[in-house]
Amino acid sequence: MTDGDRSLRADEAFRCLDCDRRWYYARARCPDCAGREFGTYALDEGVVVARTTVHTTPPDVRSPNALGFVRFDDGVQVVAQLSDDAVGVGDTVAFAGSTPLRDGDAPQPRLVAVTE
Ligand SMILES: [Zn+2]
Repeated sequence: MTDGDRSLRADEAFRCLDCDRRWYYARARCPDCAGREFGTYALDEGVVVARTTVHTTPPDVRSPNALGFVRFDDGVQVVAQLSDDAVGVGDTVAFAGSTPLRDGDAPQPRLVAVTE
């Protein structure tokens, strides 16, 4: 896969075709084996391991802005916007698309709590 092949969905992570290492954010080489051949796959559900709420945000960015550090079963870790301030540590979450923080910004992943 190369840049520009297509747009990534918010729930897609990368998998190295040489060593199977997995990660979320786009990079040019595998962090373990420096391989350049990647595949993508959809992340399912993750667990919030840390969270914070930012109350002082730049102009045009939502306030309060709930952010979570989320770990998925395959070791992939993502920092993303949380759907609301009620999502807490230990909650199971899933991707709900991506939204730009403000006009002109790249879309950021957004996670919502999964209800049983
Ligand atoms: Zn690799």
